Amino acid sequence: MKNLVYYLDRPGGTFTATVEEIGEPGPGEIRVRTLRTSVCQSDVVIYRQGLPRIKAWPAVILHEASCEVDAVGAGVTGFMPGDLVALGCDIPCGDANCIYCGDHGTGDWTSCPNTQATGHEFPGFARQYAILPDWFVRLGPIVKFDRNVTADEACHLEPLACGLEGMTRVNHCIEHRIVVLIGAGSQSTYALQCALAMGARKVIVINRGHERLERVMKDFADPRVVGLPWTADVVERVLEACLPFNEPHFVMINASAEAAYKLGAQLMGYGTVLDAHAGVKNADGKPRIGHTLDMNNDIHYRLQCYQATHGSGLHGIRLAQQLLAEKRLPLLGRMTYANERFHHSQIREALERADDRNSLKIIINWEGKET
Ligand SMILES: [Zn+2]
Ligand SMILES: [Zn+2]
Repeated sequence: MKNLVYYLDRPGGTFTATVEEIGEPGPGEIRVRTLRTSVCQSDVVIYRQGLPRIKAWPAVILHEASCEVDAVGAGVTGFMPGDLVALGCDIPCGDANCIYCGDHGTGDWTSCPNTQATGHEFPGFARQYAILPDWFVRLGPIVKFDRNVTADEACHLEPLACGLEGMTRVNHCIEHRIVVLIGAGSQSTYALQCALAMGARKVIVINRGHERLERVMKDFADPRVVGLPWTADVVERVLEACLPFNEPHFVMINASAEAAYKLGAQLMGYGTVLDAHAGVKNADGKPRIGHTLDMNNDIHYRLQCYQATHGSGLHGIRLAQQLLAEKRLPLLGRMTYANERFHHSQIREALERADDRNSLKIIINWEGKET
């Protein structure tokens, strides 16, 4: 059978559409047909500058995908041709005995020294068909949806899962509580919708750029949502918005900048959980961002919690699956405007658009004709 694969020849390079042969799935394997891929900011970084984790070029990128099961190999019982599935990015290392990823592991794939990710070490979904190995099918991250969930919705599974890992690593930090999101990009927009679905009392979104903040405030307007421009007095304004509480309960850093960390630290109060969700990387690597803490007064007596998550395991994937299947994120479609939808033949244009300051979520359609 013929398969269309887009290879990115090198960082900052070009995509080449290649037709190659793809076989039938072997025992335990499934073959999937890509329906949608959404574009992550990490894809833009890979497209422009590459990533140390990607050792072999040309590479097949894109890791946020919804697919239809096309064929299943012998012994596969969990999936049938025609099933709508969505996939995670972080995947097990493939070793059945691994203490993280294996059959009896903790499930914390992202902690495994040999962890892999689709679109990184494992080929991504910039291709029409893919065969998933037996361990991928057996251990995940792949989940099935009823057809009341659309392919568009299902492709949000992975980015949602990552955010939900951060929002649930500490119990009881969202429901009835005040959530602060630093940044108004796609990760904050997912977190905003999840926080509302999880029963947050108030969600405060802080952003430097007016355009994107206005877009998010308009499209996700809710009596519980407040947007604050990142002005010099933003700390006082956030604390004002938290009243009658003296501080927020959960602060999520979704802007990849040192200033976001400094701001997050200033918002820590009594019982606040800080999720350092976006890491900071630049041309010189990962800069040190110092902050002094009193282990007794801040951590013990003021119950502060500093934590982070990156990527997701099955925990986040299952939470995202549940929110999508139960239709608890009804405004997801607003993250993608008409000018943020592309046909796969426009993969380069899609990545360029994802790099625009005013874009939220780019979706690439692998069905239908070129428009
Ligand atoms: Zn992603
Ligand atoms: Zn492992």
